[in-house]
Amino acid sequence: MIEVDGIPTLKELETSMPSMERMRKKPVAMHECYQDIPCDPCVHSCPTKAISMDSLVSTPRIDHELCNGCGLCVAACPGIAIFLLEVKGDSGFLTLAYEFVPLPQQGEVVDGLDRYGKEVCEARVERVFSLPGIDKKTRTSLVRISFPAEKIMEVRFFRRRAQSGS
Ligand code: SF4
Ligand code: SF4
Repeated sequence: MIEVDGIPTLKELETSMPSMERMRKKPVAMHECYQDIPCDPCVHSCPTKAISMDSLVSTPRIDHELCNGCGLCVAACPGIAIFLLEVKGDSGFLTLAYEFVPLPQQGEVVDGLDRYGKEVCEARVERVFSLPGIDKKTRTSLVRISFPAEKIMEVRFFRRRAQSGS
C-alpha cells in the first residue's frame, strides 16, 4: 500500500494501467501516482492534453488513446511516477527517468527490478536520451530498457551490473 511502504496495490495499479492492446500499438504513458498531492507538471507537459486532473491536489488521469508516447510527462514528473510502456512481440519496453550518473550505455545488460527493488529478470538498455524536464530549462535523462513481455507490469527500474573500470 502506497501510504505504508510506497508500493501501490494491484487495485491502485489497475486504475491507471493501459490495456495490453494499447501497449502493443505504440509506447503509452502510465502513471503510478495515487496520492492527493499538490503537483501537476505532468498535466502541463502533455502536448496532446492526454493528462487531466480535477484539481491541483487530485491524482492524474491519462487518456491512453490521446497519448502519443512522446515521453515529455516522464521527464517532467518530479516524483518519477510516470513510465512509458510498450509491448512488441515477446518483448516489453519500459522508459523511465534516470537520475544517476554515469548513465548506462546502449546495449548494456542490466538487472530488471520490480517496485520493491527485487530482481525479476535480465534487461537490456535500448536507448539513453533526454527531454525537457520539469522547468523546461534543464533536460532529464530517460532510459528505455527491454525485457520479456510478461514482466511489463513488474519491471519498474533496473540495476547496472559491475562495470569493468568503474
Ligand atoms: S507520453 Fe506525451 S502524449 Fe503521452 S501522456 Fe505523456 S506527455 Fe502526453
Ligand atoms: S507530475 Fe508526477 S508526481 Fe506530480 S501529479 Fe503528475 S504524476 Fe503525480
